[in-house]
Order: sequence, then structure tokens, then C-alpha cells
Amino acid sequence: VISVERALEIVLANVEPLEAEPVALDDACGRYLAEDVAADLDVPPFDRSMMDGYALRAADTAAAPVALRVTGQLRAGQMPDARVGPGEAVQIMTGAPLPPGADAVQPVERTRSLDGARVEIGSSVAPGQHIAARGSETRAGRIVLRAGRRVDPAAVAALASAGRPRLRVGRRPTAALLVTGDEIVDVAESPSGAQIRNANGPALLAQLRGAGAVAHSLGVAGDDEELIARGVEAGLAADVLVLSGGVSAGAFDLVEFVLERFGVQILFERVAIKPGAPLVFGRRERRLVFGLPGNPVSAQVTFDVFVRPALTRLQGGGGGLRPALEAVLDGPLRNASRRRAYLPARVRVEGAGLRAEPLPSAGSADVFAHAHANALLVLEAERTEARAGERVRAVLLPSFVEGEPA
Ligand code: AMP
Ligand code: MG
Repeated sequence: VISVERALEIVLANVEPLEAEPVALDDACGRYLAEDVAADLDVPPFDRSMMDGYALRAADTAAAPVALRVTGQLRAGQMPDARVGPGEAVQIMTGAPLPPGADAVQPVERTRSLDGARVEIGSSVAPGQHIAARGSETRAGRIVLRAGRRVDPAAVAALASAGRPRLRVGRRPTAALLVTGDEIVDVAESPSGAQIRNANGPALLAQLRGAGAVAHSLGVAGDDEELIARGVEAGLAADVLVLSGGVSAGAFDLVEFVLERFGVQILFERVAIKPGAPLVFGRRERRLVFGLPGNPVSAQVTFDVFVRPALTRLQGGGGGLRPALEAVLDGPLRNASRRRAYLPARVRVEGAGLRAEPLPSAGSADVFAHAHANALLVLEAERTEARAGERVRAVLLPSFVEGEPA
């Protein structure tokens, strides 16, 4: 049995980023940059007014209030055609280039139009005020975003301003998902007798897609060796094959056996994590295989901890554990597993810190408790309990950041 950190190290050491491909900027969100991106121009490319107001010489306003002669008007997109001389001002709009001679802008709110030809400047301004100087945001040739950066909307704006309508990003990995278990029936069916609904098929497909993979389902193979073999053979055509269930010690847990039959090199098969101790990771050449435990919360948590970082790295990103922050417990936690536990909780901001309310859970099959959680509280193997008021580490889930209600 190896630690979570060691297991993730092994996973990431076996990931080689996929090749890069070009995409249009409009299609780049969610992808990972495969190149450092430099600005092609100074930004802003000219000294730009940040306010609607009057471009003037700051020295003229030292004894404000003062009346200046209005010699023209400049709108955004218009090049100035005259200098601003002593005692003069040009009416200027936000985004317009500062006319030569002027060195400051006084916002219109601090001015009063006198007779159309003159303006009263109510207070003095310092040189450079309300002006974004040429190159103050970035310089031509300066790297604005580095390779490995995930493109989000803020990055899109930076890439647009840097003059990049097309970019090189890591290719999305293809992924295949095979669900095992004789007891598993489709969501649309009513389970009878010993059957249960397939929670992992849809959930893992959603997680794969959410992590950037081009994923497809290979259906349910039951616990039939030949059906599993057929699925594994098809799934090994993808960059990543994920299997659900069939990796523990039961007489019908055949996944590892079948993977070895197909030449998959098994790199670990147990990790000291709860939920989810049985967890198979292997590779065949560049193709990665994850055999996740069948319990749905185990499957989701181990996906997030191990598969998601691998998918990120395949696409050219870093990959790693989600950051954990300290939170103060509202109530007690217990972990008798002797493995690192990830326990469902609702975390909220209180004052300068975080508070965590542990959620009652029926265990690693309780998809409902997990769906209500916005964080997972981490108890290390040696910490068997934590009391109300004590501090624990909380791994914040996307629903925390998105502010989702319980
Ligand atoms: P396994 O890892 O195959 O031993 O399964 C562990 C537990 O998870 C068993 O109770 C299974 O019935 C359950 N399980 C396995 N696969 C799924 C699935 N796709 N959806 C919901 N529960 C599952
Ligand atoms: Mg099973």
C-alpha cells in the first residue's frame, strides 16, 4: 500500500504530454497553452485616456480653479491632430490617445463648461493622472502567459490583447470508460432483486469530460471475463482507459487479471486513501489505465485525486493535488481506516477563516452526501479523530468556488 502522494507521483511520472495542435482563440478556453505567448505590441499602444474629461498640461492646473481654452475634441479611435498649448485643453473621451503637449486628464466630473469655448478645471491634477501610458500593461516581446497555463476567460482577454487569434494548445486526450459489475443496470431501468443503478458510468463520463477528455462509454461488461476483455481491448485504443469496479479482492474482481492479459504493466494496485483503497494504475506504452473502485464516492474521489491530474498533464498542464486550506470543525470527525480519509463537508467563510460542517454520510456509496459536499476534509492515517473546534485541512471542491447552495 502506498501513500496518496507517492501514487500521484507514479501516475504523473508515467504521463507524457500529448502533442500540440493549433486552435482558434474562440475555441481555446479550457485548453492548455503549448507555447509561451509574447505580446506583439506595447499595450496600450499609445498613451490612453482612462476617463472622459479634458486633456491638459498639469502645470496649468496648479492654481485651480482655473479656466482653460477648449481647442478641440478627441473620441476613442481618433488620432489627435493638434498640440495642446499652455492655457489650452482638449475634450477627450475614455480610450482616446492623449494629444501631444498634454500630460494629464481631468475627469469631466471635476470640470464645468463655461461658454462652450472655455472650461473651468475645479481642482489640480498631477502629471500622468488618468492616463494609461504606452506599454504600461505590457511591452512588445514580453511573455504574457506561459506554456502550461489553462486558458480561462481572463487568459482569453490577455491572448486577444497580445495579438493571438490562433494558438498552440495540447491535444485533448481520448478516453474510454468501461463499467463492470453483474449487478449494474442502466439509469433508465428500475433495479430489481440484487441490482443497483449505474452511478459511475454517467458520473465518470462527466468527470472525464469536465477534465478535458474526449470521452466515450464502452457500456457495462458485468463481471464476465470475456466481456471485460472485449471492453479492455477496445478501450486500449484511447489515450486513457478508465474502468469502474472489479479491482478489489472478490472472487469476481477480474479487472487486473484482464489488464495483465492485454499487456498492461501494473504500477500500483492499492493506495492508502479512504474512500478508495483498491485502485489500479497501469500503462501500455503511452496509454494509461485506471481501475477505479466501484463504490461511487470512491470512484469519484479517486478520479479527482489521480485521473484528473493525469488528464491535465496529458493536455500540457501541471497536474497535482487540489490545494487544501485549514478549516475549523463545527463537529467531530472520525477515521478508523488507517488510511488518509477524505470526508464530505460543507465549508463556509467566517471572519478571516473557514469553518467546516462535517456531513453525515452512510459511507463510500453515499452519493447524496457527496453531492451535498463542497469540500472534502482530510484526516491523515494516524489521526483517528478530530473534535469540534480543531483544525483540519479542507480540499475545496469546484462547488465551493462556484458558490453553489447545498
Ligand atoms: P466493486 O469495486 O466492484 O467491488 O464494487 C464495490 C461496490 O460498488 C459494490 O457494492 C458495487 O455494487 C458498487 N458499484 C460498483 N459499480 C457501480 C456502479 N457503476 N454504480 C454504482 N455502484 C457501483
Ligand atoms: Mg464489482
